[in-house]
Amino acid sequence: MKIYKTPDLAALLIFDMDGTLYTNDVYLKSQTGLLVERLARRLGKDLAPLEEEISRFQESWRREFPGRRSSLSIVLEAFGVSMEENIRWREELYRPEAYLKADLRLRETLLSLADSYKLAIVTNNTVSIAARTLRCLGVENLFPVLVGLDTCMASKPHEIPFRRAAEESGVDTGCCISIGDRYEIDIALPLEMGMGGILVDGVEDVYALPGSLLQNWG
Ligand SMILES: [Mg+2]
Repeated sequence: MKIYKTPDLAALLIFDMDGTLYTNDVYLKSQTGLLVERLARRLGKDLAPLEEEISRFQESWRREFPGRRSSLSIVLEAFGVSMEENIRWREELYRPEAYLKADLRLRETLLSLADSYKLAIVTNNTVSIAARTLRCLGVENLFPVLVGLDTCMASKPHEIPFRRAAEESGVDTGCCISIGDRYEIDIALPLEMGMGGILVDGVEDVYALPGSLLQNWG
């Protein structure tokens, strides 16, 4: 875990979902793989050359937006996939139920954090996949605010979903902490927006958050 910044008056914790509330590399890789395979079919291209094309696009995007990384949604859009189609593909292809199970320790951690903070999710997955994922993890009722790809039709790293989570929670952006597993997607932009930011390696680091946040105040 790396704590970049925590505001003096933190009131809202904005969690990323995939790779943050669970650690499962096989499922994470399958999500990218399924969408890239579907894109290859749609474009009538072989997978390997398409993956090379995607890498080249990601490199040029990084040069244009230093310190940020293109999300899978940004890649799909660049290759001509509409946001509506992107959302449909995810809902057709993703199967969180096949990979994830209830996590009692996560539930207890979030309940403990909820004593001191409001909780929200900002995910680049769709709202319905997010709801299914949270149900699998046994934490579906613990996030009063959930902003998904189809809430604002914008993906991280974009300011809109972060602002939306703060607004829906009734909290100033300066009193938010963004918590996620990818610095360039979940942390860099929130820091620029005046939020706090905590980079985690996965759910094990989330379990440690109540203690780490307390220590950081001390
Ligand atoms: Mg993530």
